[in-house]
Amino acid sequence: MKRAFIIATGTELLLGNTADTNSDFIARQLIQAGIKVIGRIIVGDQQEEIMAAFSLGTQLADIIISSGGLGPTRDDLTKETACEVMGVELEIIEEEAVKLKEYFARRQRKMPASNIKQAMFPREAIILANRCGTAPGMYLYKDEKTLIVLPGPPHEMERMFLDEAEPLLREKLKLTDSRALSQVIKVFGPGESQVEEMLAEIIDDPRGCSLALLAEKGEIHIRITAEGTARQESQKILGEIRKRVIMAMGDNVYGYDDDTLISVVTGLLQDKGLILATAESCTGGYLSKMMTDLPGSSASFWGGAVTYDNTAKNKLINVKDDTINTYGAVSEETAREMAAGIKEVAGSDIAVAITGIAGPEGGSDTKPVGLVYIAYLSDGEEKVYQLRFNSHRKGNRILAVKSALDILRRHLQGR
Ligand code: AMP
Ligand code: MG
Repeated sequence: MKRAFIIATGTELLLGNTADTNSDFIARQLIQAGIKVIGRIIVGDQQEEIMAAFSLGTQLADIIISSGGLGPTRDDLTKETACEVMGVELEIIEEEAVKLKEYFARRQRKMPASNIKQAMFPREAIILANRCGTAPGMYLYKDEKTLIVLPGPPHEMERMFLDEAEPLLREKLKLTDSRALSQVIKVFGPGESQVEEMLAEIIDDPRGCSLALLAEKGEIHIRITAEGTARQESQKILGEIRKRVIMAMGDNVYGYDDDTLISVVTGLLQDKGLILATAESCTGGYLSKMMTDLPGSSASFWGGAVTYDNTAKNKLINVKDDTINTYGAVSEETAREMAAGIKEVAGSDIAVAITGIAGPEGGSDTKPVGLVYIAYLSDGEEKVYQLRFNSHRKGNRILAVKSALDILRRHLQGR
């Protein structure tokens, strides 16, 4: 598998105001093309640092790809510096000089002398056209290293990458046969270190695959990438590792690749022809919002009640004052009555209710911030879950909603 190193140049990127989105884009594209990104760096406009970045790139990787610093001014030094590291000389390329002059003539502007820099390239390089600006990029292969230099403005960089650089990469490096095969398995329930433990055997012996864990607000995404060069062989190994991961994670697996908790739950409800209604206190309608994010959700989602204040719990979904007074708004009993109340009002097959303390205020010794009750009620089944989260207000609310979805998922899958 080819290895790539990404360089972003520009002092503005070091100041924390401009985000290095170019490298994000390049990384995603390279990974899709089956190239492994092994590192990236941001450096300012100083020649010494740019030089160090390209030297590091050539030491570590087969492909070095940069963005930024192709402008006409004195602090635009990327191309010159990259060429110095690669040991090639720049010269004025007549064809490019003509194009540049024409560009300014069309805009009825005089070309500043400094712009001629943008027509200078090494003889050995393939020049990459810039359809959105003046600075062309370049593609250079020398001493088994591939160097790609792209401009900084994101729309120029993206067009040049997709139209010019990527086709060259595919052709020259014959990438079609060595694409990365990658799959994601999505888990809800265990934490990151727990997942790591459950996968210890596979992580220790991944048989030519790499495993990466991404923790995403209560979810863990397990990405398996086959790193072999022969597609068929890679596919086989990937399939085997995938099977082992699924076995190890058991019913914690909620989905794959583009699945989300919402898409999985909605799919299950639709398959079973069931209608859901919700009652929410501390999540303020967040679950309803998520349920309605997916178009066509009305086939399986009746709607919900946001019953934040105690009187709302009573007036809208008939939670007894007595229950709230005796056990509190955040209690198993209230959660149960909320679910029963909304199910009655909606006439739905299933009801889910959430009540809890999102924080930062409102906690006590017996009922701390992050305490959440989630009630699940169907015609044959009733269960209330007591959960405890350790996040801030926003995090606690998201975790409560996702937990409610996962509880639904597990019940609908008969787990
Ligand atoms: P330059 O090619 O260095 O003249 O960059 C031109 C403009 O492109 C800069 O002012 C930035 O706003 C933008 N830019 C440069 N590099 C990046 C990057 N890595 N990510 C996002 N924007 C960038
Ligand atoms: Mg710059």
